[in-house]
Amino acid sequence: MCNACLDYGFPTVMGRGLFGEFKNFVNPPFLIVTMPDLWNMFKHEFEGAGYQVYLADSIEQVDLDRDAAGLKDIRAILGLGGGQALDVAKYFAWRRNLPLFQAPTALSVNAVYSHRSGVRENGKVIYRGYAVPECVFIDYDVLRAAPRHLNWSGIGDILCFHTGVLDWQYARDNGKIEAKWPYDEGLAKQSLSKVNAILKNIDGIRHMTDAGIDALVDGLKWGTSFHGSGWCPRHIEGTDHFLFYTLEKQTGKKFLHGQPVGLGIVVGSMLHEKGAGDMMDAIAGIGLDVRPQAMGLTWAQAEEGLTGMRSYINSLPLWHSLAHDVAITPGFIADLKLRLERAYERRA
Ligand SMILES: [Zn+2]
Repeated sequence: MCNACLDYGFPTVMGRGLFGEFKNFVNPPFLIVTMPDLWNMFKHEFEGAGYQVYLADSIEQVDLDRDAAGLKDIRAILGLGGGQALDVAKYFAWRRNLPLFQAPTALSVNAVYSHRSGVRENGKVIYRGYAVPECVFIDYDVLRAAPRHLNWSGIGDILCFHTGVLDWQYARDNGKIEAKWPYDEGLAKQSLSKVNAILKNIDGIRHMTDAGIDALVDGLKWGTSFHGSGWCPRHIEGTDHFLFYTLEKQTGKKFLHGQPVGLGIVVGSMLHEKGAGDMMDAIAGIGLDVRPQAMGLTWAQAEEGLTGMRSYINSLPLWHSLAHDVAITPGFIADLKLRLERAYERRA
């Protein structure tokens, strides 16, 4: 087992009423990085504290470098939000070498458990920086009060371990594995145990019970194993995210992360002919809608993404997956459509 990976996990505190405590221990004046709607919701927690507020609106690196350089008299950074605010908080903490505290208000993506920030360089995604928070504060009541679909989105960054591991095994078995990332059974097993924990907690995550939140957080925490394994992405990502990259590139749309990734998990499992039923049942059972129309895509756009994925991902410096090699046929797309229709029909 890869125990070393766990040593790189971020300290995490789970509890209630946590947001009201920040003013008592984050060194003032501190910078709160958040979003406008969230700030309205949580500003009362900071009454009397010495702070400044930064409302994140751009994730272009040049904008962030400029704003980081302009920060005056700041002694600590507090990220308060979902993906983007937490990524910007990380970036500022890195550029200004300041202590970082993270307070997710939803678990839509694993940004809170990765060292690097997803920023854009001339519109292109790059993962840059290195920040380890002093602590991540998970407040059960805050998460439970967030719009459910935002938290359900978070399963995308956990169930993708299933397809990630399948692609890793495929590459190993077909002589296409990268020399620096030989198959590691221990890493793969740990990833799959996180997937199983989600499958066992479908109702808990749907209703955001404490046990459901625990399973989500534990799975997302495993995101730090990207760093812990020496930046090996193999056990955590594959065809699932590759479909998302393709759809983002083709449509220029901004997605709720778990939707295109979730669709990619179903597609990847179908390609590998392993676990597609379980993945579809878990995703639909929790409530995350991964049908194209739910993420603002027509079926024609989705089909373009699916059929164009192979050539697009072969043009990128990605690790080798089954989706690099096989064509997605009209028959496959018909099968996918049917699976999606059935999965959500049953729950309508
Ligand atoms: Zn992701």
